[in-house]
Amino acid sequence: MSDQIFRIFQENFRELRPRAPIPEIAVEFFPFSNVNNTIRLRNNKLLVRLSDLLEGAPDPVLSAIAHILLAKIYRKPIQREPAARYRRYVSSSHLREKAHLIKQIRGRKRISGPQGRVYDLENIFEELNRRFFHGLLARPQMTWSEDRARSSLGHYDPAHNTIVISRVFDHHRVPTYAIEYIVYHEMLHLKYPVRLRGTRRCVHSAEFQAEEQNFPQLGKAKEFIRGL
Ligand SMILES: [Zn+2]
Repeated sequence: MSDQIFRIFQENFRELRPRAPIPEIAVEFFPFSNVNNTIRLRNNKLLVRLSDLLEGAPDPVLSAIAHILLAKIYRKPIQREPAARYRRYVSSSHLREKAHLIKQIRGRKRISGPQGRVYDLENIFEELNRRFFHGLLARPQMTWSEDRARSSLGHYDPAHNTIVISRVFDHHRVPTYAIEYIVYHEMLHLKYPVRLRGTRRCVHSAEFQAEEQNFPQLGKAKEFIRGL
């Protein structure tokens, strides 16, 4: 690990929290199966895991991700400029190819798969991840249900880290905002995990419900779903 990456994190920490003492910082590159970055605070020590796809990324990009992660953990606003810089880098074709290749190598088995006739769940996840989560949610397995069940339109299965969406939504008559809303809802379950006891429940905390309001066409989407 080079000293440079520490310097970058320290500088960004200083900018966000000018008067706080800089905690111990551990950074490691980690072979996630896609571009994920995580940060945790344990005993006043920051533990950072960056996707190994970012190894060798230019300093301004590493600085952007340092800012995003630190802002997240200390609940500070994420500045627009670094967020855009990071997004541009991650969506660059070079990195996409690299990510695609690595995914093939590390490839996971899929039950039904993310690619439907009309909608690709992975694309929808990544798009929502960019729009609402600064690209920071780790993508779970995305799969369409085997059947066209209406009883469960979507669910997040934490045991298998999988989001399952009912095939009912894989239809050209289903508007994009409706399928996006269903996936967005499940992404919030991913973000706000529920400790489960016994049977599976669908629990929506106040935090969860407040963040759900960020979805622009929430009312329209719910109305469409009621009409299914
Ligand atoms: Zn739910």
